Amino acid sequence: MFTLSPMDTASTHAYDDVRRPAPRAPRALATEAVHAGRDDLARQGLHAPPIDLSTTYPSYDSRGEAERIDAFATTGAEPDGPPVYGRLGNPTVARFETALARLEGTGSAVAFASGMAALSAVLLVRAAQGLRHVVAVRPLYGCSDHLLTAGLLGTEVTWTDPAGITDALRPDTGLVLVESPANPTLAEVDLRAVAHACGSVPLLVDNTFATPVLQRPAASGARLVLHSATKYLGGHGDVLAGVVACDEEFAGRLRQVRFATGGVLHPLAGYLLLRGLSTLPVRVRAASATAADLAGRLAADPRVARVHYPRIGGAMVAFEVHGDPHEVIAGVRLITPAVSLGSVDTLIQHPASISHRIVDADDRRGAGVSDRLLRMSVGLEDVEDLWADLDAALGATTPDGSRARHTVSSGV
Ligand SMILES: *Cc1c(COP(=O)(O)O)cnc(C)c1O
Repeated sequence: MFTLSPMDTASTHAYDDVRRPAPRAPRALATEAVHAGRDDLARQGLHAPPIDLSTTYPSYDSRGEAERIDAFATTGAEPDGPPVYGRLGNPTVARFETALARLEGTGSAVAFASGMAALSAVLLVRAAQGLRHVVAVRPLYGCSDHLLTAGLLGTEVTWTDPAGITDALRPDTGLVLVESPANPTLAEVDLRAVAHACGSVPLLVDNTFATPVLQRPAASGARLVLHSATKYLGGHGDVLAGVVACDEEFAGRLRQVRFATGGVLHPLAGYLLLRGLSTLPVRVRAASATAADLAGRLAADPRVARVHYPRIGGAMVAFEVHGDPHEVIAGVRLITPAVSLGSVDTLIQHPASISHRIVDADDRRGAGVSDRLLRMSVGLEDVEDLWADLDAALGATTPDGSRARHTVSSGV
């Protein structure tokens, strides 16, 4: 067996150090956010994490490399010693994976090129085990709904509410999938109760909206915790990524699928995500305080029919307007009218037109996604500036859906 001494490892690659087990004493989330995945840096004489862009790694010991590849093929464990090839794993991406696993309280995490690549890998792992049936609770992110409904990966889905999960399970059920708070209605499910209802079937919780700052689903019994890291984990609207936090056994299967199907995360993205994690608790708490404030103002506003804001809090607010939602989108100036979420700046979008357009209209409405629903991702701007913009965008909407026209533009 090819081995490296710890000294050799440190002097060649940070790979094993990056994978070091959790520190002796448990550390608070805010501490982990800035230190996890960086524990080896000071010993290496570094402060910022290095970016390793290598696609391949030299080795004069091809016998040893063969053994390490065999080991990967058996368990999917990250090869010991230096990496082999970029599609098997990358040290910079591994830093992000280590940090996210620490934040979610799981043994491992596996990063992918996007949230959808991460979900696809989970479905492929189970399908390869002959477990093609999925039980899922609506609403889900529009493309997750689409992937399951269209059966693009050969899976079959049963949609149910949380109370119906146990009855929906079959011998070939490989996965139960929920989002909480859900995209876009912010509906919440009782994760502990759902995990119990799943029995031995793995529960996947999409934790994109809550982030580990507000909720750690693994502690409630979820075997798999998925993130579109594109959103809060990256946090600045400049990285597309996904990640699954889970136990090492499932992580090994995910790495094997990632290796064989190629949905890897680029090392630069891994670097940006690690950087994003360091401010995650501060960003999420600050944006959540502003979101809660705005949710209160919207709830008190006669132009707003209904406000959705989760019990656990968070930086997402959804609301239904009496007037025409398209006019609100057209009316914002400070807030950016765009799909996606979780950035430092505030975004607003109309789910029925954009994020959930791909879901059949009846299924969409059945899941509580009204045609008058707007979904807002609150950023770090000052609350008064945000409210002034929202107020102006709502201002001209009238209950019949038309927009009161300015005297000048109407030509009167
Ligand atoms: C955006 C999103 C996804 C998909 O992630 P991508 O990174 O866009 O592939 C999955 N789940 C939720 C809840 C999302 O908001």
